[in-house]
Amino acid sequence: MFLSVGVRFEANVEALNMVETAGNYTKHRRVPYLVEEDRKLKTIYVPAISGESLAHAYQWSLVKEALAMNLPVCEDCAKGEFFKSMNKAHLKKKINPIPDDSKKIEAAIIKSCIIEDVGGFLYAEKPPVRRSSAFQVSYALPIKSMALFATAEPQLHARHAQMDAKGKKGNVSEQMIYYVETGTALYGFTFNLDLDAIGVSSLGAGPIIPEEEIKARREASLKALFRMLSSAQFGAKLSRFFPVGGITELTVVVTEHPFVVTSPIYDSYVERTKKRLEVIKEAFGEDYFFDSTNEVPEETLRKAIEYLKEKGYI
Ligand SMILES: [Zn+2]
Repeated sequence: MFLSVGVRFEANVEALNMVETAGNYTKHRRVPYLVEEDRKLKTIYVPAISGESLAHAYQWSLVKEALAMNLPVCEDCAKGEFFKSMNKAHLKKKINPIPDDSKKIEAAIIKSCIIEDVGGFLYAEKPPVRRSSAFQVSYALPIKSMALFATAEPQLHARHAQMDAKGKKGNVSEQMIYYVETGTALYGFTFNLDLDAIGVSSLGAGPIIPEEEIKARREASLKALFRMLSSAQFGAKLSRFFPVGGITELTVVVTEHPFVVTSPIYDSYVERTKKRLEVIKEAFGEDYFFDSTNEVPEETLRKAIEYLKEKGYI
């Protein structure tokens, strides 16, 4: 089973993804974007949020759901440090001595950590072992029809330094002035989750953990997505730049084989997704789940989880 979600959210005055600091100026991530204006194509630069930023938030959410369900999370991942068994020092915490067989290494990692099972890993030693992530996430980009109105603007901030008893300042200046670029846009992004990849070897060794635990891991992965979207705990600087807005539209599709919702950056994405699903149903005779809302996004996610439960998948 494959789950694909299209999300549209409004974020006014956000600093969700900062890329560099030049002196006292912190820049928002921006990407080139192709738009059509007066029947001509042109490139503009728009505020964006990287897939990596969203993936980190998802995996952190998965850590919490997994621990609440008593599923294994390794020591590094439990701290939100996603080293992913990258070298001997980190892998030794899971299996010691380290075997020469890549299948045994993969099995040891999957058994001891759901984050690396779902989010993939790269052990870059001999023999190298790599696992692709079972979830995929796009950049969050302004929706096409409104991209020209998306903006990024610096905001002035001041931080105060401590004064001594006589009110004199020491070596530091009394005030530190800095600028943070804030973005504003109606963003769209896609999130996919391949439920069949969870708990199963990517080196052809079949299921690595018992069926019951695979089901529990699938459930934790769905709950993590639910929680991440519902709590809006993604991106940086939330303590002072929590974006004003929220999810405006959510579309969820569950199919037997990989199928990705039409990108929510296009205004017709809901209708197009529906039409594509109908064609697949006619051509292959495959069942699917589809739901879309611009009211309560949690309700749509709940229905998708119910559907997977009915199918005996979680
Ligand atoms: Zn881990």
